[in-house]
Amino acid sequence: MNPQDLATKIQANTKLVWLEAPGSVSMEFPNLIALVQTCKSHAVITALDNTWGAGLAFRPFDLLGDGSLSVDMTAHALTKYPSGGGDVLMGSVMTRDDALAMKLKLTMMRLGICVGPNDVESILRSLPTITLRYEAQDQTARKLAAWWQSQAACVQVMHPALEGSPGHANWKALCAPDGGAGLAAGLFSVMLSPKLTQAQVDAFCDTLKRFKIGYSWGGPVSLVVPYNIASMRSGWPSQLKPGFLVRFSTGFESADDLLADLSQAAARCLNI
Ligand SMILES: *Cc1c(COP(=O)(O)O)cnc(C)c1O
Repeated sequence: MNPQDLATKIQANTKLVWLEAPGSVSMEFPNLIALVQTCKSHAVITALDNTWGAGLAFRPFDLLGDGSLSVDMTAHALTKYPSGGGDVLMGSVMTRDDALAMKLKLTMMRLGICVGPNDVESILRSLPTITLRYEAQDQTARKLAAWWQSQAACVQVMHPALEGSPGHANWKALCAPDGGAGLAAGLFSVMLSPKLTQAQVDAFCDTLKRFKIGYSWGGPVSLVVPYNIASMRSGWPSQLKPGFLVRFSTGFESADDLLADLSQAAARCLNI
């Protein structure tokens, strides 16, 4: 979240900076343009985990829209949006740099990394519908995130497209530069009140009927995961309020069914 801090951390032996927008789980959206410019000014290679953007929310190979700024490579969990079925594990690395492509290719060959043809077939079948799926899950997630904003048990909603969410202005500059609605993945986190207990939060997740417990996203079924941020990070992220973090990913269920499910589970378990 801090390009100046990144500049101080780049050393003479730094070869590559790994970027992600937004950050996993905590969902803060960095100033990707400034981060890439910082790396470029130090002649360091940039790699972006672009699983969230999926090649749809923004253009990592043309960050300013005039062809002047590009990350060097992107990595995608094809497991998520490109598959859309929640039934394939695969990844990809992309670059427009021929020399880098050759390095990657030789490394893959020497490590013997390959994928199964049936998995490739399912990804190829799913790719033509990725835009429709991404947009539908985005719409549903925004409805659920807005509902959480009205809940007393929720102290913070982390969804890059929501006003007030950490790094929202950075999301807007990159994903909605024309002032439109922009695009965002069907993924968001909520910080539940520290007045609750972990047992209440866990009971809430268990009481949900439409949301299954699971880490992945971009598949047909909505998912929920309670996260213990303190055990995942070296320090509590400064942009997060204290509380219990729960992450949601939206599937293809109707938003009304999902909202009704959240309501019934919250009414039973999240009384503060
Ligand atoms: C899921 C995920 C991965 C890893 O993908 P798998 O295919 O599940 O191993 C990498 N990056 C991000 C941001 C992810 O969400």
